Amino acid sequence: MLVENTYELIGHTPLMHLPMKTPNNVNIYAKLEMFNPGGSIKDRLGIALIQRGIASGKVNEQTTIIEPTAGNTGIGVALAALKYKLAVKLVVPEKFSFEKQTLMRALGAEVVNTPSAAGIEGAIKRAKELAKQVGNAYLPLQFANTANPDVYRKTLGPEILADLDNRPLAAFVAGAGSGGTFAGIQRALQDAYPEIQGYVVEPAGSILNGGPAHSHRTEGIGVEFIPPFFKGLNYAGVKTISDDDAFYYVRWAAKNLGLFIGSSSGAALAASLQVAATLPAGANLVTVFPDSSERYLSENIYEK
Ligand code: PMP
Repeated sequence: MLVENTYELIGHTPLMHLPMKTPNNVNIYAKLEMFNPGGSIKDRLGIALIQRGIASGKVNEQTTIIEPTAGNTGIGVALAALKYKLAVKLVVPEKFSFEKQTLMRALGAEVVNTPSAAGIEGAIKRAKELAKQVGNAYLPLQFANTANPDVYRKTLGPEILADLDNRPLAAFVAGAGSGGTFAGIQRALQDAYPEIQGYVVEPAGSILNGGPAHSHRTEGIGVEFIPPFFKGLNYAGVKTISDDDAFYYVRWAAKNLGLFIGSSSGAALAASLQVAATLPAGANLVTVFPDSSERYLSENIYEK
């Protein structure tokens, strides 16, 4: 494959039929989003947010892009902004990985840290304050911008269907942070298979299952408020995965599959195995691995 620039490398990631035994011979397929050039599923969103901003007339050559982010969206936005030579400020709670913040800076973005205890809500508030100070600023606001679910509905969902080549899908399992990934793909898959059982994955400490909110080690998923993209969305349920289980499958995937996956992928794999155990023999389940363990090595992702 010959390409002319980095942006042509966004999307069209591989779908892997995981070579693992499930009790009912259920097939588990995982979309390997770490193969995007910025290393995560959020490269797709970065380019969609910037292009939508330009198309709406809200972004011109002098505009500063400001976005609150847990990291991967920041890398995706910084990568996309580079294409259009736009200045970028990313507001990141300080707990998020050193590697992700280093990559944002490498792409030319300025990183503004907020206290971890203030959570993503604290980062959103700070981003809005910064926008007022800067003047000509554009806040894509991934947590409310419909470009987020839309890009997954239009790109990732159809890629899964094309790669499966008419193998029917019984279940879909994916983590939620902003919820864009889950909502967008769930809608695309429901268009093809209205009965598909969609399960949202959250780490223990996230609120979807009604449990108490608390901090967690699993990075990139977990919600502090119900994602607006879930309004009117039909899905089968929520799987709450402990940090221990998520990190167990991160280590398991390296040793058994030869695959470097981040902790949100580990949680998705743990949840997929739970759902697979409930499906009829030979059914097909698809999940998403959003990024790689390599951006969490400073957090000792492989240590117990
Ligand atoms: N996993 C990782 C590693 C992420 O960075 C994100 C984005 N925060 C997600 C999963 C969840 O994606 P979404 O925001 O679309 O729910």
